[in-house]
Amino acid sequence: MTRSISTAILLALLAACAAQRPQVLTPVRVDTARTPGAAASSPVTPTAAAAAVAAGRPRTIDTDPLARVDRMEWPGPNGTRAASGAPGPEYWQQRADYTIVVTLDTAQQRVAGSVTIRYTNNSPDTLRFVWLQLDQNLYRPGSKGSMLFPADSRWGVRGFEGGYEIEGLQVNGRPTTMHVDDTVGRIDLDQPLVPKGGRLTITMNYAFRVPEHGSDRMGRDGTLYEIAQWYPRMAVYDDIRGWNADPYFGQGEFYLEYGDIDYTVTAPAGYTIAGSGVLQNAAEVLTATQRERLARASRSDSTVAIITDGEARATPTAGTRTWRFRAQNVRDVAWAGAPDFRWDAANANGVLAQAYYQIAKAGKAWEQAAEQTAWTIRNYSELFYKYPYPQATSVAGTVGGMEYPMFVMVHYGDPKDDPKSIFGTVNHEHGHEWFPMIVGSNERRYAWQDEGFNTYINTFALERRTPGTAPYAGYVTNWRQTVENRIDSPLMTPPDRIAARALGALGYRKPAVVLLALRDNVVGRATFDRAFREYTHRWAFKHPSPGDFFRTIENVSGMDLGWYWRAFWYSTDVLDIGIDNVTMRQQQGQNTAVIALRRNTPVPFPIRLRLLLKDNTAQDVAMPVEVWSQGDRIEAVIAVKSPVIGARLWPDGIVPDWNTTNDAWGTPVPVAASATATTGGLSGEIEGRPLP
Ligand SMILES: [Zn+2]
Repeated sequence: MTRSISTAILLALLAACAAQRPQVLTPVRVDTARTPGAAASSPVTPTAAAAAVAAGRPRTIDTDPLARVDRMEWPGPNGTRAASGAPGPEYWQQRADYTIVVTLDTAQQRVAGSVTIRYTNNSPDTLRFVWLQLDQNLYRPGSKGSMLFPADSRWGVRGFEGGYEIEGLQVNGRPTTMHVDDTVGRIDLDQPLVPKGGRLTITMNYAFRVPEHGSDRMGRDGTLYEIAQWYPRMAVYDDIRGWNADPYFGQGEFYLEYGDIDYTVTAPAGYTIAGSGVLQNAAEVLTATQRERLARASRSDSTVAIITDGEARATPTAGTRTWRFRAQNVRDVAWAGAPDFRWDAANANGVLAQAYYQIAKAGKAWEQAAEQTAWTIRNYSELFYKYPYPQATSVAGTVGGMEYPMFVMVHYGDPKDDPKSIFGTVNHEHGHEWFPMIVGSNERRYAWQDEGFNTYINTFALERRTPGTAPYAGYVTNWRQTVENRIDSPLMTPPDRIAARALGALGYRKPAVVLLALRDNVVGRATFDRAFREYTHRWAFKHPSPGDFFRTIENVSGMDLGWYWRAFWYSTDVLDIGIDNVTMRQQQGQNTAVIALRRNTPVPFPIRLRLLLKDNTAQDVAMPVEVWSQGDRIEAVIAVKSPVIGARLWPDGIVPDWNTTNDAWGTPVPVAASATATTGGLSGEIEGRPLP
């Protein structure tokens, strides 16, 4: 942003602005400008978008050669999904309960055991086959994922050869076979599974070698094992698509059914196991001292060491020990084990917040991890939805950051002794407990409902934790890089088809930017907060589609936001509205400013304009998005008490206008410095109204 204003004017103005926010003016008249001989709205192709097409990246979902031709992400309303965005009166979803019994063999680096899946068909459909997810098959030679992502990339397989070995498959006690296709498998049923409550039981023995680099979602590092995607899981059967049997390539995450999961891990006797759910046999695997410390931690707002630094030593111990966990109302479970974990815990409003780490690798940063976990759980519970589970665990390891119900994997400290080096990831991964662990969207197809919503809520946490932090500008910069590097694609693009280098921008930061901008400029903070919470509550422990989100926001706000979804979700269009000119007129002693604005891309946006007047006062002009209904140029006629000497679009900064060079005219007011995206926190707090 160029700053051409003189220091004296700037200081005077800052003083004036600080004292009082400018009055908001309504234009006397807004005209759509017509270019003689041209169409009223001649489409302007943004250079970046043209370049993207030239580079072969889709510019809209219609130009994505692999896009589905239907609109499953936004189906028409029906008994299952209401027009309002809420679950309909006939909403149903399947249920999958598991009992898993495995042994961790650290000599062979294998996990082996059995799984029993009790599957309930709540759908109105008779099922003649079921699909399972076999994620470990990503490590079979020649897997689809190994062809899509380079071996040495984050999601790559690093040349590791593994995959599931499955034996003794039975359905309802009768032997059967599975048709395996890469990372999914279909079991044809001898007896059809009846609708509305029909049940079947699938059992099998299985094993897999644990990859060292499990596509940055699991793995091992010396004696540490971080175990996830570790048992055959039911694919989701839903009302939108039927079976969701999209393969696991590595980059796209998961879509899973809810249920209760009992799991048992037998590990070398010296190992401590941390995991999703609640430990069921503490008396067998923990010492009396550890149990007493845990009881104390559950009442303590400060961190209590369950295994102290002095006690966290790997001592060779013969034999094995069996840990039993139970997790209720979850879509998955994961666990980790090491012989020398330190283990800290603290109370977070009735939730046990825990941290497990090998201090030599994790660093002293991790001594703060239990507190960071507790803070995160407390804050998101206050802001969005009460954390529904009894505990929350952070484990330090080689995985960069990965989330599972009640359990997250976070990288080692870097720098090792700086707690700030892990806070962002601790906060982010536990943020996933809300999206998608509580609100169970389809991550494999829609990263923005998972990473995007999480990055959005993370912004509130980051600005709350460290006043003065303003991550918004960095998000925009990251999004801009994908446009400039011609690797962008619409947000509706499934994550496996987003360029790997663009995933951080398109899966996480662009969605956060456009949600923050929607909240600040279009819907308004109080209404958006209410709508976003409404979506969270409506779809907790359910499977929302993108359309359910769009409909909920539109219904709570009463706004038609099709233009916003079209621009930022379905295309790669960017916003570029500029000031063409400001002219002054004198009519009957009244100063009148005529402000010509131009929309340089297909994206409209409500106008917020701050005028600097010759008398050194400022005045704001606000216009709704509908002013762009008739064309791409408008002239706003505004009565002012003194001639306009400068004008600035979006003076408060939370607008992703791509081209800032045309956002100012004359001697404009400066852009608000270090604007935080979430100023004032959530409106629920401002209004003092109880959170739902
Ligand atoms: Zn994430």
